[in-house]
Amino acid sequence: MHITANGNKICFGICRIELKGVIKLFNLTYEQIISVILEKTNISKEELDQKIKIKLKDLSDLISKEGAAHIVANELGVKLITIPQFLKIKDVLPGMKLVGITAKVMSIYETREFIRNGKKSRVASILIGDETGTTRLVLWDETAIDALKSLKEGDIVKIKGAYCKENNGFKELHFGNNAQLIINPEGETIDNVLVRQQLLRKNISELNPDDHVEIIGTVVQLFEPRSYEVCPTCGKRVKSNEGNFNCAEHGVISPKQVPLVNFFFDDSTANIRIVAFREQAEYLLEKTMDEIQEIKTSPEKFDKLKLEILGKQLIIKGRVTRNEMFNRLEFVANRIEEADPVEIAQSVIK
Ligand SMILES: [Zn+2]
Repeated sequence: MHITANGNKICFGICRIELKGVIKLFNLTYEQIISVILEKTNISKEELDQKIKIKLKDLSDLISKEGAAHIVANELGVKLITIPQFLKIKDVLPGMKLVGITAKVMSIYETREFIRNGKKSRVASILIGDETGTTRLVLWDETAIDALKSLKEGDIVKIKGAYCKENNGFKELHFGNNAQLIINPEGETIDNVLVRQQLLRKNISELNPDDHVEIIGTVVQLFEPRSYEVCPTCGKRVKSNEGNFNCAEHGVISPKQVPLVNFFFDDSTANIRIVAFREQAEYLLEKTMDEIQEIKTSPEKFDKLKLEILGKQLIIKGRVTRNEMFNRLEFVANRIEEADPVEIAQSVIK
């Protein structure tokens, strides 16, 4: 079945959705990416090979052939993605339209009335969740709002045709006049709802100072890890004063070394310098502090480390900061996780 709405083509069978500006091609093979680019542009195979070669060289071979091909696709304005029509909450992103979701009702909030264009309108909202997270569902449709009267916590809702937008750094699902709601569809259950704060996922090119968000991409450059001294009791950073380390709370202490590492991270829309401290640095490098100390004194070990780390695909939660000296944005990692390739494939960019 094919539906065209708002210029977005949807194929339910193969679940290929083209949304305005979507550019992720991570789950396609190199050959598939090439054939998509050739199909959608007038460029010749030779020109394309050349562009990819140049891109690989520009990035000092830090990215894979697939990665280079997907950056070239982006530059040529080829926008494509493969995502299923029914999504898990973690994969629903602002800008997505015609989203389908099956979720459990966690809370039902009071329906509000307001006047719009001289007409009395209502807006209802409920908190829904599935195995991957929770999100607020906002309903503007009168029939759906009426249907909510019989809704209880623990009920299952199946929604088709919703859209997702950002509200104060959180994603929200909106249910408009063209959406469909089924309460307690037969045979659908959700056992364990993952309740955690869902950070908004953003493109690196869209980041703003103070954003607290999640980004997904690839490590493309790594700087030599460093370390600094902290108080072993409270973990606060301490500075040497004539050879003594003094914690404001714990007095003179024998400091503990903790690691710090800077790297560049690319998601094909842009790249950003990221700093990771302590456990996050150890996690990224897959090294203990002692091993990191050895790397600091051995260029050979650092070269070997780079080979291991460059190209790693990660999901990073953290905060965007502005580096005034270089007039650029940077990112402080609060949590680093390996990205599941399926998740990368489904990460939609509006
Ligand atoms: Zn202390």
